[in-house]
Amino acid sequence: MRKNIVAGNWKMNTTLQEGVKLAEEVNEALKNVTPKCDVVICVPFTHLATINGVIDSAKLGLGAENCADHLSGAYTGEVSAPMVASTGATYVILGHSERRQYYGETSETLKTKVRLALDNKLTPIFCIGEVLEQRENGTHFDVVKAQIEEALFDLSAEDFGKLILAYEPVWAIGTGKTATDDQAEEMHAFIRGVIADKFGTEVADNTSILYGGSCKPSNAAALFAKPNVDGGLIGGASLDAASFMGIVNAF
Ligand code: PEP
Repeated sequence: MRKNIVAGNWKMNTTLQEGVKLAEEVNEALKNVTPKCDVVICVPFTHLATINGVIDSAKLGLGAENCADHLSGAYTGEVSAPMVASTGATYVILGHSERRQYYGETSETLKTKVRLALDNKLTPIFCIGEVLEQRENGTHFDVVKAQIEEALFDLSAEDFGKLILAYEPVWAIGTGKTATDDQAEEMHAFIRGVIADKFGTEVADNTSILYGGSCKPSNAAALFAKPNVDGGLIGGASLDAASFMGIVNAF
């Protein structure tokens, strides 16, 4: 059966010292509870190795927010999947809308990144989602389907089964505007159908599909109660241990 997962995406926030403190707070809070979901924090590259040393990996997973589309070599400033894995991290967010929008990431690039992540035993948290205009002109289902097809349909069913998907309507990210639980459920069910048509119902049923976009303690329980919403990818609210734990405990 698929897992429930709450994953934080810290984005480009916190200094190393602030990040270590935040990770320690989340780690401490998890000592006292047995959450009904896996909990992961995805943090800046600079923080990975140090944070890996202060958290209990049995209770708190660690991931990067991106990785390079090359294995190694003359790519100044890039960080490869093996480098991420060497810090102890086991997850990597790929295809976040901010990477697609500001850094020109295409499905072709993402296909390569997913391959490199899997080859290095990193679990991709693969993000998909439409912009407001696409939601308003009714092309949101086509857009999301194309994002999945273009970047992920070359995978074997076995490899696809290693992914976590995150549906993040771009109009809801960092805007305070959350998709309603019915809108989220409708899209998550659609995504599961797309997976089932290509890889079969067993793979589809076992794939965790997270919702992302202004998720907070006050709306998480209603979203997570939907049958096809298997957790959340959390931006802003993951920067405060109490809010993040409020979402974790919403399950
Ligand atoms: C995100 O960036 O993945 C995200 C969901 O951000 P926020 O929760 O701040 O909308």
